[in-house]
Amino acid sequence: DPSAALRAGLLGLSRNDKVRRVVQNAPVSRDVVRRYVAGEGTSDAVEATTGLHGQGLLGTLDFLGEDCTDLEGARHTRDAYLDVLRALSDAGLTERGGVEVSVKLSAIGQALPHDGHKIAVDHAREICAAAAAAGTTVTIDMEDHTTTDDTLEGVRELRADFPWVGAVLQAYLRRTEADCRDLATAGSRIRLCKGAYDEPGSVAYLDKAHVDLSYVRCLKVLMHGDGYPMVASHDPRLIQIAGSLADRCLRASDSFEYQMLYGIRPDEQQRLSDAGHQMRIYVPYGDQWYGYLVRRMAERPANAMFFARSLISR
Ligand code: FAD
Repeated sequence: DPSAALRAGLLGLSRNDKVRRVVQNAPVSRDVVRRYVAGEGTSDAVEATTGLHGQGLLGTLDFLGEDCTDLEGARHTRDAYLDVLRALSDAGLTERGGVEVSVKLSAIGQALPHDGHKIAVDHAREICAAAAAAGTTVTIDMEDHTTTDDTLEGVRELRADFPWVGAVLQAYLRRTEADCRDLATAGSRIRLCKGAYDEPGSVAYLDKAHVDLSYVRCLKVLMHGDGYPMVASHDPRLIQIAGSLADRCLRASDSFEYQMLYGIRPDEQQRLSDAGHQMRIYVPYGDQWYGYLVRRMAERPANAMFFARSLISR
């Protein structure tokens, strides 16, 4: 299957340091990066979410950076989150959770050789305290399957002090339906996505149709459960099924939300919001945009061609 091969190739490139350096330093058209990434600094992030707020959309900010292997880098990412939460609060954007933040544990120390888990959770705790002070929430992103248990354990530890911390579950993992059952408890915020990493068949469904079926099974568990489902997908079929399930479970519009990525299906984002649904946009910013962007390319080869053309035409 050529598209599966292209996807695997791109996911490989998303972790290749040499290629990252070449692409990040290439005179990439700002417009291409800007379509999916809000900018590099705190003020860019605030500006982008102010725009979304004006359109009635909610936000979750992601300071780009992952697989950080030194303590200094982990602290730098923590500080970026503390800074952006202060700025968002000053701009009045965090009230009632209007704009929150999404954090990757690997970006704040999880992969450090000594005490990685503890360092990451301590950093996350500081970010959660700042979010609480600003009146908003934090969601802990999910990464590749080797980190799932450690990340869910981190979420559990954080929830002892901050019960509103969001977890992410990936429908492509075979374990996820069971995780949905465990986590669909009162007040539990759970983002359900398909999953963005290149995973082996031993732990993940490899076939798109099987991933979609798993997504529907997980949605059923979450919508019937007591938690707060966050439906993260651009897939029109899954969005429709989520809406029907919410109706069938008599869920009020404030008891679940839809989520999409910045720059992907903006018309649909606005349509769902205008129809009275809560619609949250995941907004990445920061100079480490390479891995994020290449994962988006792997999902949609048409975007990869668009990106490649803009590199060549410069
Ligand atoms: P896809 O299978 O990619 O697309 C399904 C259909 O959606 C397509 O056939 C098309 O009809 C439509 N569509 C998709 N893209 C476009 C487009 N550009 N333009 C027009 N139509 C389009 N992954 C993780 O592994 N961990 C995370 O923590 C995580 N957090 C996320 C948070 C949010 C808010 C979102 C939205 C995604 C997150 N992801 C995360 C990524 C996710 O796992 C998927 O990789 C990504 O969302 C693509 O899957 P999809 O459900 O949109 O469906």
